[in-house]
Amino acid sequence: MSLTAGPERHAYRDFAGRKVDMCRPAAATAGRFDDSPREECGIFAIYAPERDVARLTYFALFALQHRGQESAGIAVSENSEIVVYKDMGLVSQVFNERILKSLTGQSAIGHVRYSTTGATGWNNAQPVIKGRNQSAVALAHNGNLVNTAELRERLLDCGHTFDSTSDTEVIAGLLAQSAEGDVKDALREVIPQLRGAFSAVVLTDKEVIGFRDPYGIRPLVLGDMEGRYVLASETAALDIIGARAIREIEPGEMCWIDESGYRIEQVAGRKRESLCVFEFIYFGRPDSIMKGQTLYDARVRMGRRLAEESPVEADLVIPVPDTGKPGAVGFAEKSGIHFGDGLIKNKYIGRTFIEPADELRRLGIRMKLNPLTSNIEGRRIVAVDDSIVRGNTTQRLVAMLFEAGAAEVHLRICSPPIVFPCFYGIDMADQDELIAFHQSVEDVGREVGATSLAYLSLDGLREATGVEDCFCTACFSGSYPCVVPENLRLAKLRFEQNADATR
Ligand code: SF4
Repeated sequence: MSLTAGPERHAYRDFAGRKVDMCRPAAATAGRFDDSPREECGIFAIYAPERDVARLTYFALFALQHRGQESAGIAVSENSEIVVYKDMGLVSQVFNERILKSLTGQSAIGHVRYSTTGATGWNNAQPVIKGRNQSAVALAHNGNLVNTAELRERLLDCGHTFDSTSDTEVIAGLLAQSAEGDVKDALREVIPQLRGAFSAVVLTDKEVIGFRDPYGIRPLVLGDMEGRYVLASETAALDIIGARAIREIEPGEMCWIDESGYRIEQVAGRKRESLCVFEFIYFGRPDSIMKGQTLYDARVRMGRRLAEESPVEADLVIPVPDTGKPGAVGFAEKSGIHFGDGLIKNKYIGRTFIEPADELRRLGIRMKLNPLTSNIEGRRIVAVDDSIVRGNTTQRLVAMLFEAGAAEVHLRICSPPIVFPCFYGIDMADQDELIAFHQSVEDVGREVGATSLAYLSLDGLREATGVEDCFCTACFSGSYPCVVPENLRLAKLRFEQNADATR
């Protein structure tokens, strides 16, 4: 293996003689100020030899930036060489013109990451690359395996070594270790061994391949770009590059794209579809379409339904920016209460690379949101948000509205109370950190200091999605769609009376 190092990046040839080009780890990671559930990742893949695939991947990742802001990476395949470039930070911070120009090839995959399995850090940034059968594969993954420890152990026993702690490298390791000559055959062997949530894309020297877990917990959509084909977490990533959605990759399907077009095959037994309902509530971009529904419209319906279920007399409906906006629009529409802004968001806050000192950290929410006093003073406010996890941000937000002179603050939440943790890749805290765990709605309202608090019912949420029930709603009900091993359950769950973790 040869290695060249520079001040900002290094490159090496792997054991198969292929160049692996990587940037140097960046220094710090993001400060955390809010309390929302964290998306895990966004993925993209393209096969288009006559196009600038790295640049198109860059734009697609830009459209998926909301799904992960810790790191970004692109892998390109040119003839028999795969090159990966990745670093900590936003897409616009990681890539520049010079880097994109150096990433040439006929196909590419890309990734934006927020960590759940595996620590935050450069080693866990994606795509990951592994040598296999005198060639190489790069892989990028959205989701969370629940049998990572078991698979990792098995690979270690076979002498496999790891550069990271991510479950993504475990999938790539299984691919590398497979004796099957063709990557698709290796995937046919590997995919049935994976448990949990996974939508992933793979880059080889001949093709790009995408696959989705048998429950379809994380999204993946196929698009057509003038006769060439792409895969993405969301349709918003297709729109930005002028591609048209063909169809969603169904649970347990594998789709491969090469010179002759695309083909789809069912590679794992399909289970009851369980798309994460938070894609509809909060994660997906409002302009994305999933299950035939524009997410903005679904969120407006959630707000309307919430107004029906939990009406209140008030003077102004305000959204908690930005994700509470469609719900607030729906609530105002249905209730007939005037809609307006009450909180102004600093659009440029992003995820800072500079950790504030403690005193500043306490002001964290003010860095993101500031009250619009002229709209709030003396008024009875309905503040509409998508969810409450730990409740600390909500508490500060309510206090901020009262400090700005609100006469009353009625919180309306476009999802049911979160009382169970997520094992499938969404960072929601352990069960005893969830504010609604073991507390009545009234008690939660009191704790966050609101005049009143109401959540959307689970039935109301399901109906508002506009889709036949095909969702994972485990963080509300405890009914986990795929088996969660006992060691994981015990680590996160404090109360299993209602949990059916082995369904
Ligand atoms: S447990 Fe909750 S956050 Fe996790 S996949 Fe299911 S619905 Fe989504």
